[in-house]
Amino acid sequence: MNIHEYQAKELLAKFGVGIPAGYPALSVEDAVAAAKQLPGPLYVVKAQIHAGGRGKGKFKELPAEAKGGVRLAHSIDEVAANAKEMLGNTLVTVQTGPAGKQVNRLYVTDGVDIASEYYLALLVDRKSGRIAMIVSTEGGMSIEDVAHQTPEKIATITIDPATGFMPHHGRAVAFALKLKGDLAKAAQKLARQLYDAFVALDCAMLEINPLVKTQGGELLVLDSKMSFDSNALFRHPDVEALRDETEEDPMELEASKYDLAYIKLDGDIGCMVNGAGLAMATMDIIKLNGAFPANFLDVGGGASKEKVTAAFKIILSDPAVKGILVNIFGGIMRCDTIAKGIVAAAREVELDVPLVVRLEGTNVEQGKAILANSGLPIISAEDLGDAAKKIVAEVKQAA
Ligand code: GDP
Ligand code: MG
Repeated sequence: MNIHEYQAKELLAKFGVGIPAGYPALSVEDAVAAAKQLPGPLYVVKAQIHAGGRGKGKFKELPAEAKGGVRLAHSIDEVAANAKEMLGNTLVTVQTGPAGKQVNRLYVTDGVDIASEYYLALLVDRKSGRIAMIVSTEGGMSIEDVAHQTPEKIATITIDPATGFMPHHGRAVAFALKLKGDLAKAAQKLARQLYDAFVALDCAMLEINPLVKTQGGELLVLDSKMSFDSNALFRHPDVEALRDETEEDPMELEASKYDLAYIKLDGDIGCMVNGAGLAMATMDIIKLNGAFPANFLDVGGGASKEKVTAAFKIILSDPAVKGILVNIFGGIMRCDTIAKGIVAAAREVELDVPLVVRLEGTNVEQGKAILANSGLPIISAEDLGDAAKKIVAEVKQAA
């Protein structure tokens, strides 16, 4: 789960992290009220969407020369004018995709005089099995270019979970940022605070870009992106309350209501599978046969009729889907029960694309008989390879 920049900064501030003062705003009036509480004379009006690259982003509805999603304002009137131009419009950034995201919230902050911009991120590094800190002196809006062109300017420091964060980790961060004296001490303190926040909140990723040195010689977090391990959210109701459903993919949101693990992909073959491993294998074999999956969907162990129906509806609501492959292994759940669910669901949603079903496991013969006698144009498959071949052929033929 992702949250907005202002929410991430408010969480970090609780761990002692230094952030510029600021207030979220849902309207132009809110933005003006926020600015009035700030010292001025420099303000920053920031679009709050779940995507980075806002500074370089472009608004769909505004002329190409209009400013992006992070704007400096030199008076309260300018704050109001910028808020008016941004709210309700669609911001397209390298991270939103071409459709962009509608800006419904702003964050109005105290403007900072920047001396240097740094990069500092924490993530769970699968290779080392540790939390890693990714650090660079080249922070700001082109960190992706730095990673491609001058990767030697990015340092990685991993933290052994057996010891936790040690003073030497902090010194390594300060060294990588080439900071000396009080600023090095500030960086060590910040690194520890970020690590504490990351662990305490079960984060998946915490990115500070930029971390800035101000003209006054202070270290401040100017932008922050935070995402959480969804499987640990039950431990953090306060974090879960920060969820902004308007930022999420509507189909993924619907799937989460039925406890279905659904992820939208770019292809045209919808998949309904039980078990994450089988779902991955199903996607692989579709690709092997020359087509692409439209989604990942794991209906889980107890695939009831209601769940199967919800899954069908979600798959079919994607206009890109040209065919569906159901691949279910009946273990605890028997194949005949599953077949009944598929038939009922296919009737209810008035299926209008080819459907290939591969069933295996307990009571598979009864299950296949139910599909064959349903009167529905369901294509039965013998095994996974056969199923993939059949659905790819059906979809290619229809095209
Ligand atoms: P992003 O483009 O979505 O990553 O948004 P950021 O919050 O990182 O802002 C983009 C850029 O705007 C930063 O890299 C800064 O250069 C600039 N910026 C943001 N806040 C301030 C500020 O308070 N003062 C100044 N001078 N620049 C700022
Ligand atoms: Mg940024």
